[in-house]
Amino acid sequence: MADDCIFCKIVAGELPSETVQEDEHTVAFMDLNPWTRGHALVVPRRHSRNLYEVDDADLGYAGVAAKRLALRMRDRLGCDGVNLLGCCEPAAWQTVFHTHVHVIPRYDDDPLQLPVRPRQAEQDELARVAAELRES
Ligand code: 5GP
Ligand code: ZN
Repeated sequence: MADDCIFCKIVAGELPSETVQEDEHTVAFMDLNPWTRGHALVVPRRHSRNLYEVDDADLGYAGVAAKRLALRMRDRLGCDGVNLLGCCEPAAWQTVFHTHVHVIPRYDDDPLQLPVRPRQAEQDELARVAAELRES
C-alpha cells in the first residue's frame, strides 16, 4: 500500500466508497465525478502507478473484472454500450496515480462526444511510425 494513495485507502476501507464489486485481486467502486450514470473504476488491490508499472497478472485481473462489471451495467442499468478508459501519466489525463480502469456505461442519448476529430493519415506517415514501433 502506498501511504498517500487515495485508491489504496479505498481498497483498505480507510476512505469511503460506493463499492460495487470485489474479488481477491480487484475492487470496483463508483467514480466521484461520473461522466455518465454508473461510471465506475476498477482497481487492482496491489498498488502500482499506472500501465507502465502494473504487474501483468493484475492487469489481467482488472480486465476480467471490468468485463464482469460491464455485463452487469448492461443487464442492470440498461446501458447501450460501455467505454473502457485507461489514463497513463498526466499527458494522458491521469490524475490519480494508482492503476485503474474506467468502466463508463454509454447510452444512445448521452452527451459524451469524442474529444478529437480523427483524420486519415498518409501511408508513408503510417509506415514511418510503424517502423519506429515495430518489435525487434
Ligand atoms: P484518472 O483521471 O486518473 O484516470 O481518473 C481518476 C478518477 O478518480 C477521476 O474520474 C475522479 O473523478 C476519480 N476520483 C478522484 N478521487 C476520488 C475519490 O476519492 N473517490 C472516488 N470514488 N473517485 C475519485
Ligand atoms: Zn494505491
